[in-house]
Amino acid sequence: MTEKPKTSANLFDQAKHTIPGGVNSPVRAFKAVGGSPVFIQSAKGAYITDVEGKRYLDYVGSWGPMLLGHAHEAVIATVQNACQNGLSFGAPCELETQLAEKICTLIPSIELIRMVNSGTEATMSAIRLARAYTQRNTIIKFEGCYHGHVDSLLVKAGSGALTLGTPTSPGIPNSTTEQTLVLEYNNCEQVTTAFKEHGEHIAAIIVEPVAGNMNCIPPSAEFLQHLRKQCDQFQSLLIFDEVMTGFRVALGGAQSYYNIQPDLTTLGKVIGGGLPVGAFGGKRMIMEQLAPLGPVYQAGTLSGNPIAMSAGLKTLELISEPNFYDPIIKLTSTLCEGLETAGKDTGITITTHQAGTLFGFFFSDQAHITNLTEVSACNGEYFKQFFQAMLTKGIYWAPSAFEASFMSSAHTAEDINYTIEQARAVLKTLS
Ligand SMILES: *Cc1c(COP(=O)(O)O)cnc(C)c1O
Repeated sequence: MTEKPKTSANLFDQAKHTIPGGVNSPVRAFKAVGGSPVFIQSAKGAYITDVEGKRYLDYVGSWGPMLLGHAHEAVIATVQNACQNGLSFGAPCELETQLAEKICTLIPSIELIRMVNSGTEATMSAIRLARAYTQRNTIIKFEGCYHGHVDSLLVKAGSGALTLGTPTSPGIPNSTTEQTLVLEYNNCEQVTTAFKEHGEHIAAIIVEPVAGNMNCIPPSAEFLQHLRKQCDQFQSLLIFDEVMTGFRVALGGAQSYYNIQPDLTTLGKVIGGGLPVGAFGGKRMIMEQLAPLGPVYQAGTLSGNPIAMSAGLKTLELISEPNFYDPIIKLTSTLCEGLETAGKDTGITITTHQAGTLFGFFFSDQAHITNLTEVSACNGEYFKQFFQAMLTKGIYWAPSAFEASFMSSAHTAEDINYTIEQARAVLKTLS
């Protein structure tokens, strides 16, 4: 029997024998764009290399965490050192406090913070805490916002209308999602109506302050402010899910960028520097309800383990150095402008959105995309063709038109120029 050559396609076939769909997270399977996913051998800086030795300029960055680029030397060295002292203790260690202090300093609305192992865990726990604190059950979320695969949050409305939630996935009892109201992103009027009708039952609003899971959609000028006001009026909590936007949109998160203080914040991605970490935190009075101080149970065998803490701490130290963000934000603007110009020149109109180092592009004639309905109306066929052609040219975008893109400090002006040039050439071939 001859061994099959180590190609992405062969490894994908092999993976499917023991892993559902061959992947451990669905979007990796390339279902939205067709073809076989690229199997990665290694990554360094702004580039990833597949098992066939082909190198790609990476705009996914492991879906956000790699703000410093892949395999940053100082982060790797810190993690290697930490490993020498043991991988997990299940008992307190100083690194947990150091990371907590760093986050509380950078995001002042967080007075107390609890570490968990993923963004999903963070939002799940924040919802439990909000319900316990307010002694109410109803949660408002917005269509197209993703908060991890938490049962009560895995809901979207049918048509952007104000509807009581029905689950997006089987396996979630209706009784779980009945308490979730799903509203349209950027729609203040629906929020007002929901509070008028259900105000005294609403425990919390959970929102991505910049939506990063239906491509990249910034909030309108009044949207976040309106959420803050409504929550204050009805004594409901405002939860900013900053798992993606935290340390991406700005050092202080989207909340500093838009100058709105939430009651609770969830974090993940960047704060783990590439290792599995999530966290939730906020006002002291609310967080004190958590066990062991209060009655709200929440725990984790590996929570706060020294390896993840050291990767996160080193990452936050490096990104909080003066002038870290400016060059990355500038490169992001250059790329967005370049893509729009290439679109104009080739007659394939592209709209881009940017929030700090987070950005997105849409095949649309609309100048601004504001909600899920509008994202869904973009030209999906163009996206597929664009994605595959760019992949051939060695440029790796997220394999779905509903995902955002991510810049890192490892990307260079040459990388950006190359991307724009290739994009222009590809756009000419779209039909
Ligand atoms: C990625 C993400 C999550 C889920 O985090 P996981 O670590 O994948 O569980 C939650 N909320 C937002 C906004 C995210 O982008």
